[in-house]
Amino acid sequence: MQEKVLVVGGGTMGAGIAFVAARGGYSVEVVEPQEAARERARARIAKDAERARDAAIADRVTFLDRIPERHDAVVAIEAAPERMDVKRDIVAQLEKALGASALVATNTSSLSVRELAEVAEHPQRVVGLHFFNPPAAMKLVEIVATEQTSDAALDAAHAFVERIGKTAVDAADTPGFIVNRVARPFYLQSMRALDFDIASAPELDALARAAGFRMGPFELMDLIGIDINYATSVSVYERLGAERLTPMEMQRRMVGEGFLGRKTGAGFYDYRDGEPEKLDASVPEMPEDEVNVEEVIAVIGFADAAFDLFERLQQHFANVVHVANDEMLDEIPEDVTIVIDTGDGMSDRGAVIAQLDARLDPQTMLFVDAYATDVAALGARMRHPERLVGYGILGSLDAQSAVEIVDGEHLSDDALAIAEEVFEALGKGVVVVADEPGLFLGRVVGSIVNEAVIAVQEGVASAEDVDTAMQLGVNYPRGPIEWGREIGGRRLTRILKRIADSEGEAYAPHRSLWVLDMQEQEEEMLDARP
Ligand code: NAD
Repeated sequence: MQEKVLVVGGGTMGAGIAFVAARGGYSVEVVEPQEAARERARARIAKDAERARDAAIADRVTFLDRIPERHDAVVAIEAAPERMDVKRDIVAQLEKALGASALVATNTSSLSVRELAEVAEHPQRVVGLHFFNPPAAMKLVEIVATEQTSDAALDAAHAFVERIGKTAVDAADTPGFIVNRVARPFYLQSMRALDFDIASAPELDALARAAGFRMGPFELMDLIGIDINYATSVSVYERLGAERLTPMEMQRRMVGEGFLGRKTGAGFYDYRDGEPEKLDASVPEMPEDEVNVEEVIAVIGFADAAFDLFERLQQHFANVVHVANDEMLDEIPEDVTIVIDTGDGMSDRGAVIAQLDARLDPQTMLFVDAYATDVAALGARMRHPERLVGYGILGSLDAQSAVEIVDGEHLSDDALAIAEEVFEALGKGVVVVADEPGLFLGRVVGSIVNEAVIAVQEGVASAEDVDTAMQLGVNYPRGPIEWGREIGGRRLTRILKRIADSEGEAYAPHRSLWVLDMQEQEEEMLDARP
């Protein structure tokens, strides 16, 4: 006999969960009180089954209008509206109806599973099974255990998730679990960047895509719905009480004015006259047979970034030298036209650049890593600040298809044109941004990595599960912990310190961020979980 699954609530999530459970071979009953909702769910499931070319899936799903007095399901999942009273009532009914060994699961996004389980006679069998929308397509399920959840219930939850072909991660019963929490800075810090006029929404979206995000934050918020995103922001913030995750006035205002994104025709973009045009920051790489012989480039730096940049430049420029440390600055050729300083990725390089400014021909362009160095302060002490280009390569050049360039107070058109020429030769687009600490990508990616580290430290999940969750739950190009290792924990610490100096301690890097620079075995100190 087929094992049974009971799904309570046949809306967006319930219908999707019913479909994936039926696809996994279970016989599924959906409890949905609204006739219209039942019909919608039925049609949705039939359509998904058709798409999967397996009509039998839909045949395994039947509907009820209320929870029966007795039911022999092995797993029950509630996907009713996000209200504690409604869900508690459902849990109480489920417990009466089901056999003692059945798992009772909630799909809540923002309520405490522990509080929900308080009404249960057997709270040890209550877990969160947090699916992502649309369940048919999204691979991730967060399994949320409370302190009372039994090992047997957890095992049953894992077995169920595996059987329906999803990937499970374990999350503690904390606000936003893993994904909705660690993703907060992607939205919030992007809106801060917009507030600070770092660049326009289309430019910031283009930069985010250039760093590997499937969608930029603004186009994504428009798709999710500004109201939904705002509600999640408020809920995570209020329950966690972390100032760094304070919701934005911008969101509140947009919700109040009815700019909810695609569903109302306008949000950060306007959809009323058709699809808004997207900005694409990427450019094709210059063919290798077109080697530039005019520029003479010196790359200064000691870390991987310098070697990487040096090698890349050599493919497109005939005259490139690598100056491996500050004691060797004399080796910069007399006729140098561009100096690109990568430093060590974590120290302000103002002193070195000021020294070169005093010494080199005024025509020579000076490029400095704007994530580590205060470009405005440096410009103020230079003889020829018009030649100063603050650029942003966060981790490796390979990891981003566009580079941010600081629109410094003194930056000349010539310097900007040369910066564009150099980066475009390497196949990297250029987006000009205002001179704010962290620019855009340093701010956003840095804050995501920081939130991930804090979550791991607080025992929300293991580093590995955080990475899996963010890749599968919101399509991040790499897990934030791994991303942090690539960029460097001390480099990110530097970036976030600069942001905190100017915007407040709430944005300070977590003291363990630097641990990402250690060997993986030593890095175990990151993990708070046993
Ligand atoms: P929805 O409004 O689309 O569906 C809820 C359904 O529950 C409705 O069809 C409603 O008629 C039905 N319902 C109302 N009272 C009920 C009751 N007492 N018993 C049974 N059914 C009842 O909502 P949704 O988006 O599917 O969300 C459901 C749950 O899933 C919420 O807890 C939500 O937080 C969570 N969730 C939503 C998403 C998402 O992206 N929409 C993602 C993950 C989790």
